[in-house]
Amino acid sequence: MTSHTCNGIAELWDDFPDFEELFLVSDANSSRIYATPYLINCIYLFVINLIFKAMNWKEELIESIKISQHAEEWLPVSALERDRISKAKQQFPMMVPVGYADLVDWENPDDPLRQLLLPSEWEVDDSGSFDTSGEEFSTIIQGLQHKYEQTAVLIVTQACAGHCRYCFRRRLMSRDVLVKETIEDLQDAIAYISMHPEIDNVLLSGGDPMICHTNRLKNIFNALAAIPHIWQIRISSKLPAFLPSRFTSDPNLLEVLQEYQSRFQIVIQCHYDHPRELTPASIAALESLQKAGCLLTSQIALMKGVNNTVDTLTELFKRLHRYGVIPQYLFHPRPVKHATHFQFPIVEGLELVETVRKRCNGSVKRFRYILTHADGKLELLGVIPGESMQLITKWQQVRKGIEKPELMLVNLHKNTCWIDN
Ligand code: SF4
Repeated sequence: MTSHTCNGIAELWDDFPDFEELFLVSDANSSRIYATPYLINCIYLFVINLIFKAMNWKEELIESIKISQHAEEWLPVSALERDRISKAKQQFPMMVPVGYADLVDWENPDDPLRQLLLPSEWEVDDSGSFDTSGEEFSTIIQGLQHKYEQTAVLIVTQACAGHCRYCFRRRLMSRDVLVKETIEDLQDAIAYISMHPEIDNVLLSGGDPMICHTNRLKNIFNALAAIPHIWQIRISSKLPAFLPSRFTSDPNLLEVLQEYQSRFQIVIQCHYDHPRELTPASIAALESLQKAGCLLTSQIALMKGVNNTVDTLTELFKRLHRYGVIPQYLFHPRPVKHATHFQFPIVEGLELVETVRKRCNGSVKRFRYILTHADGKLELLGVIPGESMQLITKWQQVRKGIEKPELMLVNLHKNTCWIDN
């Protein structure tokens, strides 16, 4: 592995051996491309943006890696920010999807998509945790987690098409953690799942599973198809937003998804953050997935500065629903190490959700507002006001082996952002 690769992206080498060669080419060219005046960089990016629509998804991904390597050189940022970006990249690499870069207002420090991709000054704060939902305690073997009785989770890659600065699994891509959590021995995982008839669905997660080579996904489907008690495969992905060409330029992927519909229900848990991400290309990606027979659900990470306004969230839920993405979860921000600046008080989140729901019809407002706790998924329902305010919660999922009351009241302060044990 070369020194200029980052954990996660480096994994793509397994799928696409030619990536390394291309990476070296880009590095050799970097002084020509990036050590040029700002105007030439802008022209270069303008041209890239013009032609990226004609790229297939692999070409687009390679271009994304290239532009991300020296992002601070072409972004219209202050010298202070440039310095911050180079430092932050040492810890958690910046990864900007080339098509998505065009959606960002790089000159506006408050732009939600800029906040999503650009390191903030607050990243130096290292309070919080790299494992906010206790994944360590659910891990059976490397890459296989079993937290909830009916669900097995396979971590199939540590790579993504873009890096969200708030990522709750940023440990998988962080240079100061460098953990290897991807499934190494699929057969051992399959053996475990086969011996646990209570597991009826498998969630492919990562990183972004959809970044894997189609043959790798097919191998996993094939192995799971041999287990009679598995009826559903769920795949969490932000690629419909970050790299929509994944679903429109690889007919083989769509054929594989279609082929396995007769064996499993395949659910794509689409991760969107902002209505601006629903571009025509992204909508075309959703349509391709629907044509391939997949059920689409939405998973939205609520983040301060990215989408914590009534207008943004309402529009996001409505537009996703309009394009056939069923509202499922809205996740309260977690205390992720180096990303706690995305958090805000639970009371504010509840007020926000309440107002959003008032603006939506019954079909759109059925999402659950969830705090993913180490013990399970805690639905945040409301507060009982008073001198000592109380939060009303409901356990939607509980870690196997522990007992919880279905409903629970928790003492709450107006500034409380998270509930620990
Ligand atoms: S796409 Fe998902 S896994 Fe990848 S960085 Fe963003 S939140 Fe993390």
